[in-house]
Parts: sequence; C-alpha cells; structure tokens
Amino acid sequence: MLKFHYSEGKYIPRLLCDICGKSIENADRAIVVNRPHTDSFKDEMLDAMVVHRGDCDLSATQKLGVTHTGSADLDHYLFNLIHNIGLTLDELSKRSERYDRLNDL
Ligand SMILES: [Zn+2]
Repeated sequence: MLKFHYSEGKYIPRLLCDICGKSIENADRAIVVNRPHTDSFKDEMLDAMVVHRGDCDLSATQKLGVTHTGSADLDHYLFNLIHNIGLTLDELSKRSERYDRLNDL
C-alpha cells in the first residue's frame, strides 16, 4: 500500500507490505501477487498485493483465498507501471538529477 511517512516536516513516499505493514526498503525483497484470473478470454482487473518475499508471500496467498497466485518481481511491476502512467526513463532520470540537487542543499 502507498503511504506518506510524515517526518520532520517532510512527506516521504513509502510502499508498505500489504501483509505485515512494514516498509519495503529493498525492491529485490518484495513481489506483487495477484489472485489468478477466472477466464482466459475476458479482460479483468485483478486484486494485487505488494508483499515481502517469504512468509508475507505465503500469507498473501491465504488472504486471497486461493491455492496459488500469480506474481511479478516488484521492480518489474514498477517498471511497467511507470510506463503505463506515461512516464519515461528519460523523464525519471531528469527528475532524479533535480532530486539529488535539492537534497544536496
Ligand atoms: Zn511483509
């Protein structure tokens, strides 16, 4: 789940695990799981959960009420999401440079 961590007058974007509620600090240690589709030939919006790998992943399967889930590595999911909301890597690179300059002050 998406949250802002308000700290010392700043709003810090955070991604929290949908199972344990702890902050995801390393994309390599998290995945996005979804309940399986019900019909291969029908468009569907599938529920998805961002979870830590391991115990949280197993708990997500139980919470979704299924025996198995689909999943994607978090970095792969986010890369596709960024593309799907119209951002480009070039634009993100420029924003990253601005962010670095602002935080150097
Ligand atoms: Zn977790």
